[in-house]
Amino acid sequence: MSHALEVESLGNGIHRLAIPTPFLVGRVNVYLLEGPPLTLIDTGPNSGTSLDALQLSLREVGHEMEDIEVVVLTHQHVDHVGLARIVSERAGAEVIMPAALGPYLADWKTSAELDDELAAAVMQTNGLGSGVTQAVKQVARAYRAFGDSAPCDHSVGDGDSISIAGRDFKAHRRPGHSPTDMIFVEESTGLMIGGDHLLPKVSSNPVLSRRVDVDAPADTLERFRSLPAYVKSLRATEKMNLGRILPGHGPVFEGHAKLIQERLAMHEDRADKMLATLSDGPKTALEIAVSIWGETARSQPFLTFSEVIGHMDVLMDAAQVAASPLDADGLQRFESAP
Ligand SMILES: [Zn+2]
Repeated sequence: MSHALEVESLGNGIHRLAIPTPFLVGRVNVYLLEGPPLTLIDTGPNSGTSLDALQLSLREVGHEMEDIEVVVLTHQHVDHVGLARIVSERAGAEVIMPAALGPYLADWKTSAELDDELAAAVMQTNGLGSGVTQAVKQVARAYRAFGDSAPCDHSVGDGDSISIAGRDFKAHRRPGHSPTDMIFVEESTGLMIGGDHLLPKVSSNPVLSRRVDVDAPADTLERFRSLPAYVKSLRATEKMNLGRILPGHGPVFEGHAKLIQERLAMHEDRADKMLATLSDGPKTALEIAVSIWGETARSQPFLTFSEVIGHMDVLMDAAQVAASPLDADGLQRFESAP
């Protein structure tokens, strides 16, 4: 399959290279900052198609992959980090990433297996029953093939100053969309390298994840409370003075505060809808999903569980919902708080 190149020059030695992915989200943006040093932000997924597209896109703006000196990663998802090892090996490039990502990508296969184990346990507890194994295999097959381990040469913590392509940026942790999201802001211009923290065309829904952070053991099977973290992260970004945002998907945009307000309003709306499904008694996450999306909820369990469980976390934090103890079958139910 061949894909047309999608390359956009943004001025100031920055280029957006949109790399095809096999995922529903479509292309992923990687950014080339000419520096020096010649710096690539994110890489695209680990596939021959994406590698070819990356190479041709780089050539289109006058560079070879072998010339890349630094690779910066924004978060753990395979469409962003899958080619990091190959690019860094071919180019001898240094790899910079959020601190929590180092141990996670050091052994990608083990991390992904633990992710699957956690997802299976959560789906089981929340009502999917015998469909669990199939559902997890489906997600793993569709996703895991496009990841890879990557070396970490330099890790970045929350609030760190960091030179990217010879320009002064500040790094901020923004967990939510994934546990390891980080944004990089050039304070003199307001330019933000955003990864998937805030996307212009689609809401970057936090998905069901295992906890990945510097305070947790690398092999923890604790669930990451993604939506409460995401809401907190969005509120922190809303207050910032930002100009142009370079997102992980879709076009470059401005106007982060208004967009964040829209996203937060949408999540409040969904939380209300889910709360309403509990008016006739306690339900499992699967039952909540089915009462909102109908039977199609069962065919995309990973996404629907992510939505429901995220909103249950938020509603429990607001003391509007309570979780019952596991029943004799090991099932979790949620009910409206009195
Ligand atoms: Zn992502």
